[in-house]
Amino acid sequence: MQASTPEFPFQPIAEYRAYKDEIDAAIQRVLESGCYILGEEVAAFENEFAVAIGVAHAVSVANGTDALVLAMRALGIGAGDTVITVSHTAVATVAAVELAGAKPLLVDIARATSTLDPLKLEATLLENSRRKIKAIIPVHLYGQPADMPAILGIAQRHGCKIIEDCAQSHGAGIAGKTTGTFGDIAAFSFYPTKNLGAIGDGGAVITNDAATAQRVCELRQYGWKSRYISDISGMNSRLDELQAAILRVKCRRLHADNTRRRQLAAIYSERIQHPRITLPPIQSGTPVFHQYVIRTPARDSLMAWLKSAGIPTAIHYPQPVHSQPAYLARIAIGHGGLVESERACREVLSLPMHPQLSDEAVLFAVQRINDWQP
Ligand SMILES: *Cc1c(COP(=O)(O)O)cnc(C)c1O
Repeated sequence: MQASTPEFPFQPIAEYRAYKDEIDAAIQRVLESGCYILGEEVAAFENEFAVAIGVAHAVSVANGTDALVLAMRALGIGAGDTVITVSHTAVATVAAVELAGAKPLLVDIARATSTLDPLKLEATLLENSRRKIKAIIPVHLYGQPADMPAILGIAQRHGCKIIEDCAQSHGAGIAGKTTGTFGDIAAFSFYPTKNLGAIGDGGAVITNDAATAQRVCELRQYGWKSRYISDISGMNSRLDELQAAILRVKCRRLHADNTRRRQLAAIYSERIQHPRITLPPIQSGTPVFHQYVIRTPARDSLMAWLKSAGIPTAIHYPQPVHSQPAYLARIAIGHGGLVESERACREVLSLPMHPQLSDEAVLFAVQRINDWQP
């Protein structure tokens, strides 16, 4: 007999319900405080998030895209500079480079890890030695750390800064360090579905350098050094007190939630057995499975099969950034083209993955996947 379909709850609401009492109390506390911008909640959250990641300074901002823009601006990157990143990412990574005034140069991913390919990165830097390539933005996509030891060495040899895009990797680690602490500066997003998610928009910049953190603080608020006096030309990109109070509740669960994600990932990895499916790579570090992404050349068939079984899946991402209308035919492409980025978009499928998912739901999905006949 076939068991009935278990529930696959939508993550943001499931997470709110799991922590409802504490979140409601936090919201009430802010409403009654009368302080809604840059108050005690933001200061406390910044300290708690810095401790959770293991970094000296965290500066909260309005969203992850701004976090990337402000990270670049804080490092003095802007007009005339080139910044290397990947095409297989959220479009925000590339958009942020242009918002900062710089030119993106897109390098391919390694097939095994779906993150920046260090070999193609180095070849691109050698081929473009006349350009002012100021920085590299590795993206820890799906919560899998990019090959930071290799990327760090390459960046040092070529005199490039590193800005880590940690929008999908809160708490992930590799080579004994947490993502976001390898480079000069790192950007996080607290979009509701991220491993640490607000009930609205939010983001943060982290760094171990006090002067850089101070610059981000000024940039996020009109370039003010002291009230009403702009030291540099800035913008408005503040996290609000309500979101900070909510994020404090969830930040306390970050590591436990990531452990739960790894448990669910282990169920998938141990039990999915299908000749047409490639599982995510086994990482030496500590991935946090923002997504659990499998690959198959018959991806659309598998997606339709799972949908008919009541199992929601998604594609991250259906089109590489370089082939999207806004960027097509004008974006610079690195050594060897973007073959693996294009292949990934055709093959990847994100299975249900978040801490509030039951073992039963994941086991049910596994069974359906193993039954799939492409
Ligand atoms: C979500 C995300 C961003 C952008 O964050 P927002 O808060 O939506 O602006 C940037 N990069 C990556 C890899 C992301 O997943």
